[in-house]
Amino acid sequence: DRLLGGFRKTSDKFSENLSGVSGGTSKLDDATLDDVEDALILSDLGPTAAARIRARLSEQRFGRDIDEQGLREAVAEEIAAILRPVAKPLEVTAFPRPQVVLVIGVNGSGKTTTIAKLAHLFQEDDYSVMLAAGDTFRAAAIGQLSVWADRLSIPIVKGAEGGDPASVVFDAVRKATEIGSDALIVDTAGRLQNKTELMDELAKIRRVLGRINPEAPHDVVLVLDATNGQNALSQIETFKEVAGVTGLIMTKLDGTARGGVLVAAAEKYGLPIHAIGVGETIDDLRPFDPDLVARVIA
Ligand code: GDP
Repeated sequence: DRLLGGFRKTSDKFSENLSGVSGGTSKLDDATLDDVEDALILSDLGPTAAARIRARLSEQRFGRDIDEQGLREAVAEEIAAILRPVAKPLEVTAFPRPQVVLVIGVNGSGKTTTIAKLAHLFQEDDYSVMLAAGDTFRAAAIGQLSVWADRLSIPIVKGAEGGDPASVVFDAVRKATEIGSDALIVDTAGRLQNKTELMDELAKIRRVLGRINPEAPHDVVLVLDATNGQNALSQIETFKEVAGVTGLIMTKLDGTARGGVLVAAAEKYGLPIHAIGVGETIDDLRPFDPDLVARVIA
């Protein structure tokens, strides 16, 4: 399985970093706890989550006999405890419809692909979906989203390249309302290098949406590339400031040893994690299962 395959890399890294602890049963002491904490940091869980897990292990088990397997299980339990509160699928509940899902993230993070995957998940749950190509800055983005829309037989509203994203979104919401779509998923530009411009653009989209439905956007989902490791965290910081973020989807967890960054993000921001991307095909968006992820990381 792809999910396990990707996290196995994270897990292998954790094993490697934990190698000092392997072999036999011993009493859990400070040296072992140091090794665990270091291994967690090296696995991209970040210093805060690592320190928290160490403290919990110490509280509960200091001086007790433990073998490597027991230690892994204890660490997995602590990771799961951090992840469980943030596991929250994206649900279509908006009334009146449509539920407007704004998708943000830097270019290359997997935003377009994730929008398609998400649309497909909604379709599988029998919701009708519409797409809005709000990244008018990149002709390629409009084209790529259109290809997905065709493949999935989903209506798409797009403007001209260089057009006003807010007007595309305005048209899309009107049309989605007219035909009774359950969900409208909006692609947006990901040009973080021009933060002020992006902020203005997203603010205008929000303003326009808010005029049509004060509740919209119902979700602002930030797509993050797990292969960026700790840099993903600074993207959360920036996008929180630029756009407000209501939840996360982390992509490319199939090919990286940096899956631990999910735990760092959960620990630091507590934002809902809606799903994870584990490949390039349409079925490769998985529900976020905290216990499974915790078990494969440790
Ligand atoms: P955007 O620029 O943010 O819209 O990114 P795209 O959706 O175009 O994705 C960039 C690249 O990442 C493409 O080659 C995608 O196929 C790939 N990609 C997206 N999500 C995943 C994922 O979960 N796993 C893998 N391995 N590749 C992904």
